[in-house]
Amino acid sequence: SKSTFATVNPATGRTVAEFPQIEGKEVDVRVEAAHQAFGEWRARTIEDRAAAVGRAGELMLERKEALAQIVTEEMGKLISEARGEVDLAASILTYYAKYGPEFAAPEPLDVEEGEAYLVSEPLGVLLGVMPWNFPLYQVVRFAGPNLVLGNTVMVKHAGICAQSALALEKIFQDAGLPPGAYTNLFVGHDEVSRIIDSRVVRGASLTGSEGAGAKVAERAGANMKPSLLELGGSDVFVVLDGENLEHTVKAAAAGRLANTGQSCVAAKRFIVLDAHYDAFVDGLKSAFARLEPGDPADESTTLGPLSSEGAAETLVEQIEETVRQGAELVIGGKRVDRPGAYVEPTILTGVEPGMRAYAEELFGPAAVVHRAADEDEAVALANDSEYGLGGTVFCADTDRARRVAERIETGMVWINHPTSTQADLPFGGIKRSGYGRELGHLGMREFVNKKLVRVL
Ligand code: NDP
Repeated sequence: SKSTFATVNPATGRTVAEFPQIEGKEVDVRVEAAHQAFGEWRARTIEDRAAAVGRAGELMLERKEALAQIVTEEMGKLISEARGEVDLAASILTYYAKYGPEFAAPEPLDVEEGEAYLVSEPLGVLLGVMPWNFPLYQVVRFAGPNLVLGNTVMVKHAGICAQSALALEKIFQDAGLPPGAYTNLFVGHDEVSRIIDSRVVRGASLTGSEGAGAKVAERAGANMKPSLLELGGSDVFVVLDGENLEHTVKAAAAGRLANTGQSCVAAKRFIVLDAHYDAFVDGLKSAFARLEPGDPADESTTLGPLSSEGAAETLVEQIEETVRQGAELVIGGKRVDRPGAYVEPTILTGVEPGMRAYAEELFGPAAVVHRAADEDEAVALANDSEYGLGGTVFCADTDRARRVAERIETGMVWINHPTSTQADLPFGGIKRSGYGRELGHLGMREFVNKKLVRVL
């Protein structure tokens, strides 16, 4: 399918702006410029590159309010969350500006004779295909570490995030990166494949759906180029005890509803031990019932729209079919009666294997709550998923929580806190959630040549 780059405010359904796309030769010129820039960029000292990336982080903070408003208008997140995203994105750039040179420092190897060490060298031009759910954060966690390392990056952002895409490109330009070191590309899906084929492109990173990930990884594979995939998830939130249940429920609601539920690491499947199940469901229901739909740009709103009309339709379809298949609807399940892509906060119970919401990711404010007889059943339910991104275990006895966490088959598990992300912690999954790690020290270990130097 062809992408369109346009801002459609999901709170109103109105098209606010449209942006022209490029293809063919116009794309080739930019790819070549990114390649030229690579020569110049990699020749700078890593401290110099890190300083420029750090400057980009400062600029993000200076432009915080404007950036937040763009994000809210484009994909509908609450304005307070959009401001939070700017802070998070800036912190990632600051983090790699500070620690990047250390992560890329030569690593001596223990050898019996002579000397051996690894140097970290950049690979070249990288392509990032990025999604709309965190339009700033997703881009900088790819671009930040790679730019410090010395790679140059091209970004094909989601069609609905064109303004974020342009604002990011401007920030990197204004931070003093050479032209071509960071390139925004308004291109369609076919061009993405052609760019990956390009001789000078050395790797591709995608955050988004499984379908898009498979396409990009297939093309990278055919070209023998490395790829990194950060795809969907259906993370569990396991509740093992009833201690401080009010706090647990609060965390559960936040874990499900942050970003209007549109996060790959949102808690999506709640697994609660029998003794605490009823109280948990009651508590979650009250928390969900409290949300007030409204304009996401208005500070008092607690329920924003989904990112698009299509996203809202898909979610309601998944819920309705699951109910037809025999699940119970505790609350919600419908579109909110107002213009825009709003869906009621929803809780489903009695969701069994074979029902749609058992296996599929629900990318919006809809929770599935399972009852488990004991820890073993909870772990079995948790692992009965094609996804393997994050997960959460709640229990006052943290040793017990740790034992359960060790049995969960995902890339990340958080104990007594909903799965989250921060600059200094590696992020990524297994199974159909993708491969590779971003952020932390591992974020600089993907598109890098760990070159061996042997001295005898
Ligand atoms: P997509 O995967 O379609 O969008 C992510 C990015 O991939 C966009 O830039 C998109 O471009 C691009 N893209 C899509 N298909 C191709 C292709 N064949 N070749 C090249 N690029 C492609 O996500 P959706 O918006 O469709 O969201 C659907 C689902 O994806 C969600 O319900 C969720 O499960 C998952 N998702 C996961 C995210 C995460 O954080 N891991 C983030 C977003 C979505 P364009 O916008 O132009 O189509």
